[in-house]
Amino acid sequence: MTPTDESTGSSLLLPLVATAIVGAAIGAAALSLALRRSQARRAALQRARLDALHTRLRSLEAQLASQQLVLQSMTTGILALDMQHRILSLNAAAERLLGITARTARGRLLPEVVRSPELHRFVEQAFDAGGTARREVTLDSATAGILFLAAEPLLDSSGRTTGVLIAADDVTAERRLESMRSDFAANVSHELRTPITNIKGYVETLLEIGVEDPSQVRHFLGVVQENAKRLARLVEDILALSSLEQRQAGARLEFEPVELESLVARVVDDLGPSADARGVRIEHRVAPRASVVGVGSLLAQALANLLQNAIQCSAANTTVRIEISAPSRDGIVIEVRDEGPGIAEKHLPRLFERFYRVDKGRTREAGGTGLGLAIVKHISLVHGGRVSVESALGRGSTFRMHLPATPPVEDRVEA
Ligand code: ADP
Repeated sequence: MTPTDESTGSSLLLPLVATAIVGAAIGAAALSLALRRSQARRAALQRARLDALHTRLRSLEAQLASQQLVLQSMTTGILALDMQHRILSLNAAAERLLGITARTARGRLLPEVVRSPELHRFVEQAFDAGGTARREVTLDSATAGILFLAAEPLLDSSGRTTGVLIAADDVTAERRLESMRSDFAANVSHELRTPITNIKGYVETLLEIGVEDPSQVRHFLGVVQENAKRLARLVEDILALSSLEQRQAGARLEFEPVELESLVARVVDDLGPSADARGVRIEHRVAPRASVVGVGSLLAQALANLLQNAIQCSAANTTVRIEISAPSRDGIVIEVRDEGPGIAEKHLPRLFERFYRVDKGRTREAGGTGLGLAIVKHISLVHGGRVSVESALGRGSTFRMHLPATPPVEDRVEA
């Protein structure tokens, strides 16, 4: 090769090499750019995925929190048990109903923390039946109540049974009410039977013996009249109680300011003759301008029941005192005190129950229905108040109605 050729050759090679180098450099730069772009894209994708995960996590957390809130604020107790009867979790209502705390109960066997053979029999029965069972159980712990239990199998995400979920509802109040209702029905039937039997018996005898002997006829008719009156009193008292109960259950009452001085005077006037007949004095002292917001006719009925009992139980030449002091911040107290025989302590807690009598035969003969004090109690209750009694054998009795200064506001009607 000639130098010219060499120089020509190198002059031809150089641009080629240069082009190749530049090409390679551009290629490398392009590659690195592409690499960086794809890394950036991947990073952006990862960031987006992470953001989505965070959002999902936050929404799951919020969902979980709201489910926890619902679970915790439910009145139904919820208890989850694993296959070994170990407590997995329980809500606040279950804690209250079973008298245990989630902190100490979680992870422990149910029989270790709740001593109730009936509850354990129910759980056994639920497991034996594949997780499903329904039954009412009576707990015998200090928190004793009647629970309606419903068990369902606890399933994992693949549908396998991993335990049972028990829902517990407190039905104690409903059952007590039902038993009170059936007791009341039995008591009413019993109370009605005596006067009805008497009336029937005397009328049949009259029909048999005829009317030849006028004094005997008069006597028999007198007995019939007494029993008819007794029947009427019973029916009246039962109706009064049932209407008071409806009012307690939310029916509307028309409350207005009731001036007590004149109310007391009216009741004393009405019962004056029966007090005179027994030789009993009635004294009354009412604080000037004392008044309550309430239903005058009901308050008069309650006072009359208390006064009638006091007169009925008092001996001749004793005094029955009605006292109403000036209202305080707590309200007003209507008090009826007698100097009668008093009531033994054992009777006091049950005295205001329907048909509860201290001396069964005597008060029934005296014409009492056994509902007088129950009516007084319910009248106090519809006024947002309460009743109390203070008595001891041989020391007389003091009955009180404690009425609030203002009764439940939604029932009040502006005068
Ligand atoms: P009754 O209508 O039969 O009198 P109550 O509900 O008014 O029924 O009274 C319930 C019981 O309380 C009665 O057995 C009665 O003997 C007793 N009792 C009520 N008031 C007095 C009183 N002031 N002193 C003694 N016993 C009373």
